Amino acid sequence: MARRGGCSATCGGRRVAGRRARLRQEFDSRASVIVSRLIEGVCRAAGHIRAGRIAFATGTKEWTMDWSDSPEQAAFRQEVRALLETKLPERYKRGEGPGERTWEFDRKSDDPKAREAANAWLAALAERRWVAPQWPAEYGGGGLSSMEQFILNQELARAGAPGVGGSGIGLLGPTLIVHGTEEQKARYLPAILNGETAWAQGYSEPSAGSDLASLQTRAVRDGDEFVINGQKIWTSGAHTADAIFLLARTDPSAPKHRGISFLLVDDIKTPGLSVRPLIDMGDHHYFNETFFEDVRIPARNLVGEENRGWYVGMTLLDFERSNIGGAVGSRRMIAGLIDDLGDAAAGATATHAVRAEIADRYIETEVMFQFSFRIISMQNRGLVPNYEASMSKLFNSEISQRLSLTGTRAFGLHANRWGDGSAASRYSDAYVRAVPATIRGGTSEVQRNVIATRGLGLPRG
Ligand SMILES: Cc1cc2nc3c(=O)[nH]c(=O)nc-3n(C[C@H](O)[C@H](O)[C@H](O)COP(=O)(O)OP(=O)(O)OC[C@H]3O[C@@H](n4cnc5c(N)ncnc54)[C@H](O)[C@@H]3O)c2cc1C
Repeated sequence: MARRGGCSATCGGRRVAGRRARLRQEFDSRASVIVSRLIEGVCRAAGHIRAGRIAFATGTKEWTMDWSDSPEQAAFRQEVRALLETKLPERYKRGEGPGERTWEFDRKSDDPKAREAANAWLAALAERRWVAPQWPAEYGGGGLSSMEQFILNQELARAGAPGVGGSGIGLLGPTLIVHGTEEQKARYLPAILNGETAWAQGYSEPSAGSDLASLQTRAVRDGDEFVINGQKIWTSGAHTADAIFLLARTDPSAPKHRGISFLLVDDIKTPGLSVRPLIDMGDHHYFNETFFEDVRIPARNLVGEENRGWYVGMTLLDFERSNIGGAVGSRRMIAGLIDDLGDAAAGATATHAVRAEIADRYIETEVMFQFSFRIISMQNRGLVPNYEASMSKLFNSEISQRLSLTGTRAFGLHANRWGDGSAASRYSDAYVRAVPATIRGGTSEVQRNVIATRGLGLPRG
């Protein structure tokens, strides 16, 4: 689409930059007034909250909300930015890659440049011990506070840098640190950290998703081994994973939450284990069906006690839902949308309706940050977020859908473009990719049940 007027490219560039700056200013000032009112209201209702530098006091008329970094946090942020500037591979700076699970898919890609980028980025993070920023230092992690992890996530997302290590870093590693034997920690944690082993998650089955405890996959003890038979579904990234952890029924006669064990299959190519692709509606190969036919694993691969795996599995889900990085991606997307609106060539139209919608999304994204700060403040006090994690997951997943829908609306009919690299097609792709956000990791209905029963104390329906 041609720029209006016949001025030079330099002049056009200046005008676009000016327009972007005005739009940003407009959204910033409108949103900051509304957000601070919202936060003030929430804080008055919630009482005293403390998270890093964020402090509110009840019983006084003065409200101090200092959202800026403390000197230590600012120094840490600078450190992260310096690493990103010098070490982030160009591929990620340019926004190339599959979009989700980028590091996992890149490391097994047919394209040598993608593999090189994945390895280089892992090595850069490993040098700073930031591959697993949340793990304790004694296990090779960064030992970072929740606030530092949040800053790291913020900066990585701002720069388009992928996280590395996959489910091993975010889910299995922290669970092994809690429930694993010393031998298991020594065997599995280093291989996760150095990028040798990426893990897939074998929880869901065709008839066991929200009601996970109904799972039917069987594991039978045979001497020093377990023999596994059954089927898992929606197994994300199993086609590029090296190993898979799963929940299997080891005592069918026990009540359903008992009689389940948490098992590790060290090699996803173990005889009897097959992975079949499921192609999603966006034409992406993201998840799979995974079949187990007499798959044999050593009995020492049991995590926690036999038949008590449900509790190990739930620890892992707590780590999955407490993810504090969600708001960061939304903030990045809305910043991109504001930039696209300022660029007439992108094809978006800033009608009043679109502006109002973006202002709403902007405010919701800022509110999402407050949910993240709540989780961080709990983690800093050694508490395990429960219904709070559900609130955060619910709100964040629904925002990601609304935000990408707003993006498509801003582009009108251009949003019908698909996969042609245009700005419009990015939002259509994001919209399709956002559909599962309210399903995976526990559906929105399930999160609402948790909030209703554990958060509000309502009786079960
Ligand atoms: C992109 C994506 C990636 C995934 N990756 C993995 C993975 O790597 N590993 C893995 O094991 N699983 C994975 N899953 C599966 C995911 O965990 C399940 O899809 C999810 O738990 C929902 O289960 P279900 O699909 O069987 O739906 P169901 O549980 O059958 O739910 C169907 C509908 O009924 C509603 N419902 C169910 N129970 C209740 C209730 N008690 N109250 C109110 N409403 C209810 C649900 O909200 C939903 O709308 C993934 C899913 C997606 C979409």
